[in-house]
Amino acid sequence: MPRLKVVIAGAGPAGLMAAERLAQGGAQVVVHDRMPSPARRLLMAGRGGLNLTHSEPLADMLGRYGDRTSRLAPLLEAFPPQALRDWVEGLGQETFVGSSGRVFPRTLKASPLVRAWLSRLDGLGVELRLRSTWTGWDAAGQPRFRGPDGAGGAEPADALLLALGGASWPRLGADGGWTSLLSEAGVPPAPLRPANCGFVADFRPDFADRFAGTPLKTVALRHGDREVRGELLLTGRGLEGGAVYALSASIRDTLEAAGEAWAFIDLRPGQPAADLAERLARQDRKASLSNRLRKALSLSPAAIALLREAGPPPSEPLALAERVKSVPVRLTATAGMDRAISTAGGIRFEDLDAGLQLRARPGTWIAGEMLDWEAPTGGYLLQAVFATGVHAARDILARTG
Ligand SMILES: Cc1cc2nc3c(=O)[nH]c(=O)nc-3n(C[C@H](O)[C@H](O)[C@H](O)COP(=O)(O)OP(=O)(O)OC[C@H]3O[C@@H](n4cnc5c(N)ncnc54)[C@H](O)[C@@H]3O)c2cc1C
Repeated sequence: MPRLKVVIAGAGPAGLMAAERLAQGGAQVVVHDRMPSPARRLLMAGRGGLNLTHSEPLADMLGRYGDRTSRLAPLLEAFPPQALRDWVEGLGQETFVGSSGRVFPRTLKASPLVRAWLSRLDGLGVELRLRSTWTGWDAAGQPRFRGPDGAGGAEPADALLLALGGASWPRLGADGGWTSLLSEAGVPPAPLRPANCGFVADFRPDFADRFAGTPLKTVALRHGDREVRGELLLTGRGLEGGAVYALSASIRDTLEAAGEAWAFIDLRPGQPAADLAERLARQDRKASLSNRLRKALSLSPAAIALLREAGPPPSEPLALAERVKSVPVRLTATAGMDRAISTAGGIRFEDLDAGLQLRARPGTWIAGEMLDWEAPTGGYLLQAVFATGVHAARDILARTG
């Protein structure tokens, strides 16, 4: 019997994980990627410390996927965080749990993992074709690719897996160019939107220029009824950083609905306003406001300037303390796709069967960030990306093997 041939478009973590499982299952696997080298976004993720997954109980983790939990739960239960850690360790990369419960490789980088992984895939006979862009299907329904010389052709396959990523950080390869091809095929995706992204604030230009690149450490950010402690980065246009990423889905949704969103920064989280007011009241009334804030509350110049951005600060100690704990910031837009960590939107689960196969195009499966789900940072992105790759591979083998 001829060997099952599977063509995968997209050599990111979802596509490569599926490639490994398929090759182990006996399939002939060819992976195409439009970039000159594979897994560029995974490698970029490793620059800031590769957060592979999270150590919290699976039930808590499942809640991170919002209203996609019910679709992703069976996949994550079949490939849970421990399975991901075992797989990483199997590639010779020890993992550890950081103080926040997040899981990292001991080296913190992605490059040793990717090197070991590519070598394993090579050993399994997985063929990697780089600078090869998926451009849709030919008249016979076979996937088409365009090579570096611009010439195109079909690559006949028993199954096609699309793992083309989202649209954030497009210079790393995934640019969302597939949306029109899928729409033409009768599968219009949910609109791609930035997720885990920064925002533009209506800061005055002199403030924005002076403090661009300055972190505000150990603050809390509130939007709606949620408050998150973490770090913020003043960017010259607005806000970036862990605290804003954690609230980015609800801030983005408010912006889309109302055209603006208000967030509130607590510059001294964990310290009640009354305590702050008492310390402020002990200061010399003749001292400048900046000096009082600096001496009583150890606020940085950037924090004090941010306070002033929200209008003249009150001088009465309790009112001033309350302002310190709730500095209003008006957000007017997302910072865009270019620097967003991930993408919301994509192929809707309603358009897929339980195995992640397209209903409108039997023989084509979807995995990774191309799917319509989102999650905060914390390892939840890669955990689901890998799990969908494993799931699609298992289903392809079960249906066509
Ligand atoms: C700066 C940064 C830091 C991050 N840090 C973390 C982290 O610490 N933890 C975490 O969980 N997640 C992190 N992420 C998110 C994580 O990297 C992604 O969720 C993950 O890479 C998505 O995997 P994927 O395989 O679905 O898509 P991708 O990794 O984007 O791979 C898709 C591949 O498809 C290729 N492609 C696209 N279109 C075509 C086409 N038409 N033809 C052929 N090939 C095509 C692309 O070149 C790309 O190689 C980070 C992301 C960024 C940008």
